[in-house]
Amino acid sequence: MVQTFLKVAQSQETQDTSSPPHVVEIVKTAIAKIRAEGDAAVREFSEKFDKWSPKSFRLTQEQIDASIAALPEQTVKDIKQVQANVRRFAEAQRSSLTDFEIETQPGVILGQKNVPIEKVGCYIPGGRYPLLASAHMTILTAKVAGCKKVIGCTPPILGEIPHASVAAMHLAGADEIYLLGGVQAVAAMAVGTETIDKVHFLAGPGNAFVAEAKRQLFGEVGIDLFAGPTELLILADAKARAHTVACDLLSQAEHGYDTPVILISTSEQLAMDAIAEVEKQLKTLRTADVASKSWADHGQVIVVSSLDEMYALADQFASEHVQVMTENPREALTKMSHYGALFLGEKTCTSYGDKCIGTNHVLPTRKAARFTGGLWVGKFLKTCSYQHVIDDEASGELGRLCGRAARAENFEGHARSGDVRAHLYLGDKVDW
Ligand code: NAD
Repeated sequence: MVQTFLKVAQSQETQDTSSPPHVVEIVKTAIAKIRAEGDAAVREFSEKFDKWSPKSFRLTQEQIDASIAALPEQTVKDIKQVQANVRRFAEAQRSSLTDFEIETQPGVILGQKNVPIEKVGCYIPGGRYPLLASAHMTILTAKVAGCKKVIGCTPPILGEIPHASVAAMHLAGADEIYLLGGVQAVAAMAVGTETIDKVHFLAGPGNAFVAEAKRQLFGEVGIDLFAGPTELLILADAKARAHTVACDLLSQAEHGYDTPVILISTSEQLAMDAIAEVEKQLKTLRTADVASKSWADHGQVIVVSSLDEMYALADQFASEHVQVMTENPREALTKMSHYGALFLGEKTCTSYGDKCIGTNHVLPTRKAARFTGGLWVGKFLKTCSYQHVIDDEASGELGRLCGRAARAENFEGHARSGDVRAHLYLGDKVDW
């Protein structure tokens, strides 16, 4: 593969999946304390990390109504419209999951049921920006799945209630809303406190502390996926517009200082033009302090000699978002295997996915796209099996098979469960 690097990432920091040791330690200490001391410890960490210690962390209906009233009418309308888009796609996903029964042999019925997880905790990030779209992606999707109780947590922003996030959480269907951030929110929902119910499953993106808390609590509760700091990979050919490519690269670079934004192109000219455009557009971008650092430290521009090389290299990155800005973008659907979400053609972009189009924006980062897709209705459902044998002979024959299979593993107890049915329904002798 011939690759020319027109821009390399300055940071030597690897994009591995482990958290920095200090994050691991902070999270471990906080979880242990919250487990032992409940609400008092939650308050201590909220004061420490967010300078936030209200009388109650749970919002009342009056506070929720006030948040909605504080928003411009258009913002509320937009939240509802975006949620309608997310709901439509999530409902289509739900209907693709069918319960079924199959008679594998006469009288032997095997079945599958998709059962909603009962209690879910959703984290809506908000340290830097009110990521209200995460409310649609987590809470609303859990509700479409049929989860009975969905708790939402989001941090205050500089000591204030993030009205838009609260409105989105409420309109998405949250049963309880808490103004809590970081590890204290995630741990409180997972281990439960005097005032916060213990959930069975945690969903939602967040910063390194949130991701590490989910990692440490996994097993005790289920988790959706590790949706860490965002990533963008753009694949562009000579026909792509440098102005649009640059604009889209910066759209993700503004997320945080640690955002890898990468362009792979079959055209050296397009790649050079895009680099120049990024520098130009940074001059007028309000979030340039963050975006320029991400671009400098984690931005890469690579030129390859063919579309096939482009797809092969893209699969190695296994990026969260992959925008395909080529003449035949749908080709990526067959040529690529490792991505969180694909954005095909110039008429869509990662920002549409992040904010409004309706697909879920909670997506795998740091190469997790090699083994998982993003958040979807199915993550909030347990696919459970069942069996019902309604025929005497079938039960007896299975009993004989079970007896032999279990004895091959030296499981005498299992074997006897088979023997007893072979005896009941086929008259086999039981000598134990
Ligand atoms: P956040 O809500 O995830 O984190 C804020 C919280 O972090 C604060 O409330 C505070 O309690 C805690 N915190 C901050 N500094 C701390 C410290 N030194 N020690 C202990 N706790 C500390 O909000 P954020 O920081 O803005 O991060 C949001 C993240 O979510 C971004 O990295 C973004 O890229 C990511 N994201 C990912 C996806 C995805 O699907 N992968 C989607 C949306 C957002």
